[in-house]
Amino acid sequence: MSKVYFISSRADSRERNLTKYQRLLKNLSLNRVVAGGDLVAIKLSFGERGNFNYLRPQYVRVVVDEIKRLGGRPFLTDANTLYAGGRHNSRDHLITALENGFGYEVTGAPIVIADGLLGHDYRSVPVDGAHFREVKISSVPLDADAIISLAHFKGHMVCGFGGTIKNMGMGFGARPGKQMMHSDVHPEVNQELCDACARCRKWCPEGAITLVEGSEAAGHKVALIDDEACIGCGECVATCFTGAISVVWKSDPRIVQEKTAEYMAGVLAGKEGKFAAINYIMGVTPDCDCLGWNDSAIVPDIGIAASLDPIAADAAALDMVNAALGIPGGALGEKDLASGDKFGSIHHGIDATAQLAHGERLGLGTRDYDLVKLDKDDVEGHKENSNE
Ligand code: SF4
Ligand code: SF4
Repeated sequence: MSKVYFISSRADSRERNLTKYQRLLKNLSLNRVVAGGDLVAIKLSFGERGNFNYLRPQYVRVVVDEIKRLGGRPFLTDANTLYAGGRHNSRDHLITALENGFGYEVTGAPIVIADGLLGHDYRSVPVDGAHFREVKISSVPLDADAIISLAHFKGHMVCGFGGTIKNMGMGFGARPGKQMMHSDVHPEVNQELCDACARCRKWCPEGAITLVEGSEAAGHKVALIDDEACIGCGECVATCFTGAISVVWKSDPRIVQEKTAEYMAGVLAGKEGKFAAINYIMGVTPDCDCLGWNDSAIVPDIGIAASLDPIAADAAALDMVNAALGIPGGALGEKDLASGDKFGSIHHGIDATAQLAHGERLGLGTRDYDLVKLDKDDVEGHKENSNE
């Protein structure tokens, strides 16, 4: 059983958020992960331009300060995206990160883009997976001494949810690797539901969508996806408000999740004891921060869960989202507000637990976790913070 340390988003004058967060990191025992002089990669997403729901840079600062206190040398990192956008190459990626508030003056750490200027800086790593014998991983995490994953926990149009596994696997996959992970995703347009609004065309990063004359039954123009140009990113699915675009899986929808877990196995190869995962379960939107916009949250802010076990960290976060009562008026329909599978309700029944099960099979961790609550009221004899 793995320990998952947790602080809730609740706060008042007796218990400041910062104090709680510092206590969380202390309990996580980062001193077992970070040794003096270590180059420590802090893996996060800087958020796409126009999205306002990515991880707050101020949270990053607390982790940076803790790593420095332990004698480590932290830096922030992420790999370039598969799709065109604000993070497609290192130059644009850095500008987006700075515009979103991740400058040194806020976070206290420099930024190193993980796979070089154009995404060519990666290496192949052998894995014993069901889908891959080797994976293509950005060079920077392979060269780092330790990795701390900071994941904004939210929904995802292809994987069901995005937490630590997705942050590490998809996030550190080099561009050819990302393409291999997405290769089972195949979006299709239902002409009768399409009203030719062209939103999907505007957001498609590959220019794969055009508007053409529809069938006689449709009786108007409709969106058409060029399968050759499509990279399977799923942005059009999240963008279409009429529900006209759905993912037709070339195979089992769980496979993209399993491939992502195998990529995480490649990132963590040789990093035993040099990894920690922190999931921020707040601003839990239906879709990923890679979109250039964000919907409202589907559940109230829950808190921060941290573990040395990536599977336990994601399992605990998913359980807490599913146990929470949904917020009316958002992406969850009235009948799904109390659903025990909230991301599945939103993303057409995707079984998002496949990434957890496969991560377990790969020996990356366990879904069997012990949740250690660290809020003031949960900690017996707690004496910290009263005078801060
Ligand atoms: S966003 Fe949806 S409704 Fe609009 S053009 Fe694309 S498929 Fe059609
Ligand atoms: S999945 Fe949709 S948005 Fe992404 S490349 Fe294919 S058509 Fe474009």
